[in-house]
Amino acid sequence: MSSLDQDQRLHPCCRDKITVSSDSLDARELAKQPLQGLKLASHAVLEKAQQRGRLKCSKCGGSRMFFCYTCCSLVGVSVQEIPLIKLPVKIDIIKHPNETDGKSTAIHAKLLAPSDVTIYTYPCIPEYDKDKVVLVFPSPRAVSVQNMMQHLHNATDSRSYDRTYEPCLKRLKREEVQEATHTAENPESGTPDETEGSESKVYPLQRVVFIDSTWNQTNKISTDERLQDLVQVELKMRKTCFWRHQKGKPESYLATIEAIYYFLKDFHEHCLAQEYNGEYDNLLFFYSYLHSVVNKAKSSAGKC
Ligand SMILES: [Zn+2]
Repeated sequence: MSSLDQDQRLHPCCRDKITVSSDSLDARELAKQPLQGLKLASHAVLEKAQQRGRLKCSKCGGSRMFFCYTCCSLVGVSVQEIPLIKLPVKIDIIKHPNETDGKSTAIHAKLLAPSDVTIYTYPCIPEYDKDKVVLVFPSPRAVSVQNMMQHLHNATDSRSYDRTYEPCLKRLKREEVQEATHTAENPESGTPDETEGSESKVYPLQRVVFIDSTWNQTNKISTDERLQDLVQVELKMRKTCFWRHQKGKPESYLATIEAIYYFLKDFHEHCLAQEYNGEYDNLLFFYSYLHSVVNKAKSSAGKC
């Protein structure tokens, strides 16, 4: 695999260009520090693990730092030491079998939101209900996160609901979020099945599918007939923080973990109509740390 292939291992859900003037020092500084201001758990545990160096994965014996991307388990870090996040919808990530797992950020999502994230290896994917599942993928017919719910409602409306359904839905959604927050704080208070059951009554979206692979492979997976009928959603105006972007690939292609994060942020604000207060920032717990390590290494090498 060429280095270009590796560099393209980004979620292609955001193709809008955001121009940063190369003359502006402020803009450049901002571009280098795009992950500032996130509400993150302390990175002390990762710093300590990094000082200790790589360890052998207890399952496969591979030499790993922080986690094993083959076994999807933590290495040298315990589950109590990392943040765990409850998501408002289930996330499925479909990855291409030929990809190098070590390049993927999909595993970050699985480790940080284990009860809400499932990773599938193509072509082993579930049958999806097109009324309740969307695919994040840029295409001519893709809609914004903001318009996504309306598209799902329209599909449902045309069969069994009238127009009075929508305001009612908004109110119920707020209640649902409060309930979800409550559940996250008190894990004993509800089982995942109960949560999923209440979601299905409250709003149609139950699951969001992301594709984790290079651009060519993503196209192949997205045209699979099992994904064809899903509403496609595109993220707009998001700029990647992915540390490999300096090697000459479009900055607007997102790493999978970035795509999930930005989707959820938009979902929270536009679909749940809630103010965003950093609820999902910790999805970038590993990503932001790795980003800062790479930036430090570049600074000390005098490349900036
Ligand atoms: Zn392993």
